[in-house]
Amino acid sequence: MRRLSDRLSYLVSGITGRLGQKPHCPACGSRAAIVCDRKWFHTLSECQNCGLLYRFPSEPAKQMADFYQDRYSEPVATDMPDDTTLASLVATNFKDTYLDRHYHLRVIQALGVKPGMRVLDYGANRGYATLQFKRLGFDVTAFDISRRMAAFADKIGVKVHTSIENVGKGFDAVYSCHVLEHTPNPRKVILDQLSLVKPGGIVIGHTPNGSKHFSISERTSFIGRGDKCLRRNSSKVSLDKGPTLRPRMIAPKSCNGIIKLR
Ligand SMILES: [Zn+2]
Repeated sequence: MRRLSDRLSYLVSGITGRLGQKPHCPACGSRAAIVCDRKWFHTLSECQNCGLLYRFPSEPAKQMADFYQDRYSEPVATDMPDDTTLASLVATNFKDTYLDRHYHLRVIQALGVKPGMRVLDYGANRGYATLQFKRLGFDVTAFDISRRMAAFADKIGVKVHTSIENVGKGFDAVYSCHVLEHTPNPRKVILDQLSLVKPGGIVIGHTPNGSKHFSISERTSFIGRGDKCLRRNSSKVSLDKGPTLRPRMIAPKSCNGIIKLR
């Protein structure tokens, strides 16, 4: 959010949002929360019921979707390298860069998802992770709402669908990296993702840990440790009656919890 107009828009949305909204957790609905941080008229609160960190006030889903189409700017997520740099990244398979997804690929294989199986890269961005999955032999499909990112992914031969209706169902795994924290309602997104995997399939969401306490006490673990996995089991997960999901920590130094659905 670098442009002055975006800053002003954020400031105004914080003021107007407070007039029309009451703070509540977008995952469990609880109003019990403590404020961890604030920026102008927005606050970062920690739900005292489920532990989710959430921003208040929130913007309408349509407004957020529009923002991520062409105004979202974050170097690690939206930089579009020149052709020479891109060719080098592709040639080295992103090795020794922050775009290297080796760790994530090891995680997903440790969970029983092997090359040849169907994976949905949910929030594929520029297609970098999709390409790395493909190179290991996964049958991977990519989705992102941003048409701008999808167009860029064409450069590296990755087809990114911009409509979730077009990706199909019955995946062995849905994978996302730093996506859930950008969605208006992560609980709904996780349930949607679970509807896309076949019974026994898994949903893996890598997220940052925004907890101030965690970032202070676990500085060396702060980056890349927000790993959670949900396994769909048709006998335990009801998409109609609400979630009975139990996120499973899959790395010993995982974060202290962005989402805890029960
Ligand atoms: Zn909650």
